Amino acid sequence: MVSFKELGLVNTREMFAKAIKGGYAIPAFNFNNMEQLQAIIKASAETKSPVILQVSKGARNYANQTLLRYMAQGAVEYAKELGWEHPQICLHLDHGDSFELCKSCVDFGFSSVMIDASSLPYEENIALTKKVVDYAHQYDVTVEAELGVLAGVEDEVASEVSHYTKPEEVVDFATRTGCDSLAISIGTSHGAYKFTPEQCTRDPKTGRLVPPPLAFDVLDAVMEQLPGFPIVLHGSSSVPQEYVDMINKYGGKLPDAVGIPEEQLRKAAKSAVCKINIDSDSRLAFTAAVRKVFAEKPAEFDPRKYCGPARDLMTELYKHKIINVLGSDGKAE
Ligand SMILES: [Zn+2]
Repeated sequence: MVSFKELGLVNTREMFAKAIKGGYAIPAFNFNNMEQLQAIIKASAETKSPVILQVSKGARNYANQTLLRYMAQGAVEYAKELGWEHPQICLHLDHGDSFELCKSCVDFGFSSVMIDASSLPYEENIALTKKVVDYAHQYDVTVEAELGVLAGVEDEVASEVSHYTKPEEVVDFATRTGCDSLAISIGTSHGAYKFTPEQCTRDPKTGRLVPPPLAFDVLDAVMEQLPGFPIVLHGSSSVPQEYVDMINKYGGKLPDAVGIPEEQLRKAAKSAVCKINIDSDSRLAFTAAVRKVFAEKPAEFDPRKYCGPARDLMTELYKHKIINVLGSDGKAE
């Protein structure tokens, strides 16, 4: 048993309370490798933004859970080295799908876990979420739960259709489970293809897809039911068209990739939405930078020469999100 406190990590309780009060949101960035983690920490340290490092089940399988844990521990020290006196870094399990997985993360030094039982019938979602909450709270680990179903694909989480969260269920759910935050479905979606062309309109000037707006009426109704309760948005990448264009220009093939417009996320961040998950955008930045080097310098075979530029582009992306979308800069001195 390792406590997250020994690792210098923090849970989400204070982070979220401050974020709701301050009208901003905490970035939750997924990581699978060293370059991504360096970019996240550098961007957070330079902007003094609290940050949530997310590990999915797929990331655990890809990078090894032991290594990821020590990387997160190393991240705290790296942040201090960068001059961030009091780093506010949370290590969070993204989309935990069983009690056993969540327990293993709690025992292993995670400061926060998500139990995603949203695909189960309502009562089963409550029972499993409560079981995880009861265990995690013994160790002061915070728990995110989910109500409603997001469309799209993220690692092993996939659904073809979305079901908006039912605002009439949230009070009962939050009360009976004791969860610390709630991921809701208001039209965000996992992956780089969040909407089909049929769901979108097309901008006649640019030819680009314009996605349908988020269901802010559902968010408003949830906030009315649960005033001041921390709300989480998954699948909130914007799929920046400059990266998509770069990928396509240098030999990639991502036709009609589309995300959530940043002005909608900006609006959400000012509300009780206090955690916004961003993964695909960083994957796109990484791939765009690597493709560019491969196309322009075909003789290059030193991974540092293409992972380095990828890291730089991701750092820039993370800083942009923190400063211009979430507003979390300067919130953790
Ligand atoms: Zn998600």
